[in-house]
Amino acid sequence: MAEKMLQFVRLAQHQPDKREATDRRADWNEVYRPFVAEAASEQASRCSQCGVPFCQVHCPLNNNIPDWLKLTAEGRLEEAYEIASATNNFPEICGRVCPQDRLCEGNCVIEKGFEAVTIGAVEKYITDTAWENGWVKPPKPVRERPESIGIIGAGPAGMAAAERLRVLGFQVTIYDRHDRAGGLMIYGIPNFKLEKDVVVRRWHQYAEGGIEFRLNCAVGRDISLAELHRKHAAVLIATGVYKARDIAAPGADLPGVVAALDYLIASNRKGLGDAVPEFDSGALNAEGRHVVVIGGGDTAMDCVRTATRQGAASVTCLYRRDKANMPGSMREVYNAEEEGVRFEWLAAPDAFEGKAKVEGVRAVRMHLGLPDATGRQQVEAIAGSDFTLKADLVIKALGFDPEDLPMAFEEPALSVTRWGTLKVDHRSMMTALPGVFAAGDIVRGASLVVWGIRDGRDVAEQIAAFVEKGSTALAVAAE
Ligand code: FAD
Ligand code: SF4
Ligand code: SF4
Repeated sequence: MAEKMLQFVRLAQHQPDKREATDRRADWNEVYRPFVAEAASEQASRCSQCGVPFCQVHCPLNNNIPDWLKLTAEGRLEEAYEIASATNNFPEICGRVCPQDRLCEGNCVIEKGFEAVTIGAVEKYITDTAWENGWVKPPKPVRERPESIGIIGAGPAGMAAAERLRVLGFQVTIYDRHDRAGGLMIYGIPNFKLEKDVVVRRWHQYAEGGIEFRLNCAVGRDISLAELHRKHAAVLIATGVYKARDIAAPGADLPGVVAALDYLIASNRKGLGDAVPEFDSGALNAEGRHVVVIGGGDTAMDCVRTATRQGAASVTCLYRRDKANMPGSMREVYNAEEEGVRFEWLAAPDAFEGKAKVEGVRAVRMHLGLPDATGRQQVEAIAGSDFTLKADLVIKALGFDPEDLPMAFEEPALSVTRWGTLKVDHRSMMTALPGVFAAGDIVRGASLVVWGIRDGRDVAEQIAAFVEKGSTALAVAAE
């Protein structure tokens, strides 16, 4: 082992510097400054090169983390990039948006006592350096194959599958209802977590590598699944989950009570330079307003932090459990607190007040009761604990469910689970329709970018095997 490693006993953990909260609130740029070469090499050298690397075990992509940390410590960045990109289509994106505290870094053995190696920040550094040096290349097939694959959805699952299939030589077309590729990486996750040109450059490189993008094309409206099924040797459904969970409380339909994704899409579009009438009219703009965001996940954190940047008069997050039980990443909660967001823990909305538009949220205090069958403590309202928060914009961020795809795609044979996600064979990843596969959030339920990539890579292998089997059968029949 290189003498350079095992430096955790000497060197403290140092994440890349965060910009000051006041600066962050004034623009939309990413929160963390990039590592400089020396810091990246030093931080990578803290790794103890474990024989059984728990970081790797808990990375959904099983990234070969110890190897690329060692190469980074030695300054061999091109090789580090080769290893990082062998298992991950977008290492620079995962380095930015993975909840590392729950995945790789949360399981780093030196976390106990010395604080984890800064795996995510090093992964981002390696890949940003690779882009700067022109080491990132468009997908290049070894040989072209005649079969074409249709992919519905240009999110991380669809894009990762497209890249793998293209490298194998297939002709790949991605259909997406939006005008840009990237899925929630473009229109969900805000710029201050993931700058949009980081996603756009991948999309453009994929197009350069021969992947065809049919944008502004909604399957079920502009083209049917049946048509795609006829046209392509196999079809992948990677459409994500978008049906916002609602609140059944009086006044929930008042103007000014909006869904999180509508709000975030408007903000992201504005940042991308599009004309956004709902933003300009003020319907989806927090400027000068008292904003209440309901929910405790990453989407809620993205909404509160977007509202602060839009110049809201006040931003309050209402969550029915306590801070320790928030589903979102703690790192994002701290960032929100630093940026001036107020949290009302253990509080839930009871009604939305106002006549022509929302003017306030009546909330009730909760306490955590006995655990249910899943082990999670139940929340119970405390009688007589009502209070009202002034609000002229309320954002509902309570999570997402899948839309009714069998109906939207007019394919009753597509079967779904009791949660509405698409049912697939767990090995072949094929739906009940032969030759139609599914991956990403539409199968898993609302999840993470890194799981989308994992599923996209896995399903690409299954699709390739399926098409291969079909061509072999045809060749045998022709003999
Ligand atoms: P998506 O990214 O949803 O992509 C699906 C694509 O399919 C979209 O482009 C959509 O337009 C297209 N589509 C849908 N229906 C049709 C149709 N009928 N015809 C054509 N195209 C269609 N994950 C993290 O890891 N870190 C984070 O910080 C993080 N932050 C998030 C913040 C927000 C606000 C949200 C909502 C999610 C966040 N996630 C985060 C989760 C992550 O973005 C998703 O898990 C991931 O994008 C799912 O990938 P996917 O490819 O399955 O679906
Ligand atoms: Fe960690 Fe995510 Fe990178 Fe895996 S992909 S090493 S979980 S940051
Ligand atoms: Fe290095 Fe931590 Fe992974 Fe061990 S668990 S190999 S110390 S990053």
